Amino acid sequence: MTQGKTVTHKMLSIVGEVDNHTLLQVPLGTPIKDCLTQAKMKSGEMAVLLGGHMMGRILTDSGDIDGAVVTKTLGNLLVLPRNHELVRRGTTSIQGIKRQALSACIQCQMCTDLCPRFLIGHLVKPHEVMHHAFKENSLGDDAFIRDFGSAVNCCDCGICELFACPMELSPRRMNGYFKEKLRERGLTIEKGRDPRVHPMIAHRRIPTHRLIARINLQAYEGQKPRECGQLSPTLVRIPLKMHIGSPARPIVAVVDVVALGQPIG
Ligand code: SF4
Ligand code: SF4
Repeated sequence: MTQGKTVTHKMLSIVGEVDNHTLLQVPLGTPIKDCLTQAKMKSGEMAVLLGGHMMGRILTDSGDIDGAVVTKTLGNLLVLPRNHELVRRGTTSIQGIKRQALSACIQCQMCTDLCPRFLIGHLVKPHEVMHHAFKENSLGDDAFIRDFGSAVNCCDCGICELFACPMELSPRRMNGYFKEKLRERGLTIEKGRDPRVHPMIAHRRIPTHRLIARINLQAYEGQKPRECGQLSPTLVRIPLKMHIGSPARPIVAVVDVVALGQPIG
């Protein structure tokens, strides 16, 4: 970036239910299925987690997997059995998540107490979002901001749903849902100007091995790439949106021939 060069390749680790744990250097836009073929994905009902077990996107449908490509923010593919807990939780519909929140949240506040954003002083209170969820359709704008405004400060890290909540609920997905609702209403939230670190922050760190056990990934712990290779696909599809904000504008046209490293958007 400092040299003004375009991003053309990514290093991608591929682990989980594959025979060949591998580290690949691939051009942006490489089809995910080419990477999975190279890593020898096991047969059977599989799902692919793009971008890590905490914040990644889960693909279960073979059409979605066929259509997915390597983007500039992708660094890992984790292949899991389709019936893995992470897959089940990640693919539950938002209506199901809401029903679970309304019926099973015990207001223990663990989601807030262990939230890294809360601990460094930001206004993030997932337990309150869960508590107020039933009022969603009855609130005016000011009350909506009061009850759900803290959702905008959630960074989607997943600690609340994958480690903290004893009821296996998904405050993260609820925050995401209410962020979207705030956007739909055109409501903006003032950012906290003076975050104060919580005095208990040093005592609320999360041991990695316990997190791994909690999300049932022990079987894959310590998997290391057995080979490091390169992939040269015959076709790449480079999305114009690989970042937050507006999509890039193309600066090349259909049928143009482009060279490696040439800006295209
Ligand atoms: S940790 Fe789970 S049960 Fe406890 S308040 Fe948060 S969402 Fe509710
Ligand atoms: S997903 Fe959001 S609310 Fe949950 S722990 Fe992370 S920052 Fe906090």
